[in-house]
Amino acid sequence: METAAPTAVIVAIDGPSGTGKSSTSKAVAAKLGLRYLDTGAQYRAITWWMITNGIDTDDPQAIALAAGKPSIVSGTDPSAPTITVDGQDASGPIRSKEVTSKVSAVSAVPEVRTLITELQRSITAEAAEEADGIVVEGRDIGTTVLPDADLKVFLTASPEARAARRSGELRGKEAADLAATKEALIKRDAADSGRHTSPLAKADDAVEVDTTELTLDQVIECVVTLVAERRSATGGTEKRAGRS
Ligand code: C5P
Repeated sequence: METAAPTAVIVAIDGPSGTGKSSTSKAVAAKLGLRYLDTGAQYRAITWWMITNGIDTDDPQAIALAAGKPSIVSGTDPSAPTITVDGQDASGPIRSKEVTSKVSAVSAVPEVRTLITELQRSITAEAAEEADGIVVEGRDIGTTVLPDADLKVFLTASPEARAARRSGELRGKEAADLAATKEALIKRDAADSGRHTSPLAKADDAVEVDTTELTLDQVIECVVTLVAERRSATGGTEKRAGRS
């Protein structure tokens, strides 16, 4: 009797900021024993490196020239994800207001996207080979980075709900101004959706989940159910084939 090849499951979760992508992706990965990759953190990390090394983030050519210099490493344990730049912990500084305001410009540079996409594909292939799979969250995972993912989810929510959630994550002065948070968020979405290379977009075969009226637990449950359904329908990704 033939035995089935061992399989892994690759889940792509995309959507604009404040839709609950990170909380959902981490929880789904932890529940299912999968790895977790925050691709936004990688774009933030390269942006932080540009800022600290005096690269003008309004100069795409300067960004393109420097893009290959930093070494960005992501830890993929969903209960303790990490991000380092040249061996230095970057998890705090990448959440600063300055990085948040500059990350869209840096991530729109094609050379940056090519390098970070390669990194994301190799982390995914490794998770498919060595573990039971991975949940990868971002803006272009289902459309560009992993077009063959076993499941693609696109999370949405009203701008009001997204601004309120993002405000809740921020501290003190930054959290005080809900209107400013909403404005900054809409501006960043417009830049991410309007860029030429690999914009924020829903893949044709992605399942759209509007999280406006849902609790986080409900969204997590919904995605866990979708993974189970997809796994039983397709069997997942064959480990030996990997994915790149
Ligand atoms: O998810 P997060 O808000 O941390 O992402 C920060 C920024 O990184 C986004 O606004 C976007 O400019 C960029 N990004 C991207 N592609 C991804 C993930 C994030 O361009 N897959």
